[in-house]
Amino acid sequence: MRKKIVAGNWKMNKTLQEAEALVKEIISGCADEDTVTKVLFPPFVFIQDLASLTKEKKGISIGAQNCYHLESGAYTGEVSANAIASVGGTHVIVGHSERRMYFNESHEELRQKIELIFKNNLTPIYCVGEKLNERKSNNYFHAVKKQIEEVIFHFSEAQMKKCVLAYEPVWAIGTGETATPEQAQEMHSFIRLAVAEKFGQAVASEISILYGGSCNAGNAKELFACADVDGGLIGGASLKAGEFLSIIKSF
Ligand code: PEP
Repeated sequence: MRKKIVAGNWKMNKTLQEAEALVKEIISGCADEDTVTKVLFPPFVFIQDLASLTKEKKGISIGAQNCYHLESGAYTGEVSANAIASVGGTHVIVGHSERRMYFNESHEELRQKIELIFKNNLTPIYCVGEKLNERKSNNYFHAVKKQIEEVIFHFSEAQMKKCVLAYEPVWAIGTGETATPEQAQEMHSFIRLAVAEKFGQAVASEISILYGGSCNAGNAKELFACADVDGGLIGGASLKAGEFLSIIKSF
């Protein structure tokens, strides 16, 4: 059975005090018996404090929004996968479209990041998604296939079983424009097929593929009802406990 996952990408928001209050509210609003894996992605500096809050609660953990593509050394301002693991982080987002766009992350770097994430026993959430012009010109399958082939096709079957993918159409991120359930399902099943062709059906059936892009309490239910959508990577709507908890309960 594939894992159902709801991940909250807080981006560059919240102070420590606000972050702690939000995590406490989310913890107290999650039923112990729910089967959804919850991962919250605060700014790096809050990971350790928040991980100590989630430690005792089943099914909820803290991750990082990024890591550096090299192991350690003289890279002022960067954070390694090893450092994230040492403060209790469990997951790392890789290849978010904002990082591809503002920091020009290359596929080679993204591959190196995932390698180090695996090496440190963390789980990567690798993001793919087409830009608006690629959607409009009907090039969206090609764009996403390239992002998959050039990054995750380099890993082994065993590693791929531990990877999470997120389909995030760039035109839907932070815009209020969500992919329709049909558009999401079409791309998720395309991604799963690509994984099956490369790594086999067993890996494809096991890998969780999340949808991201203006997913909120109002549309999560119909998106999560799609056969190949295994949860969501949530930006704006993860910043308020009530809305995020409603999304978790949308399965
Ligand atoms: C994201 O940044 O991954 C995201 C999906 O953002 P939003 O939900 O705000 O569109």
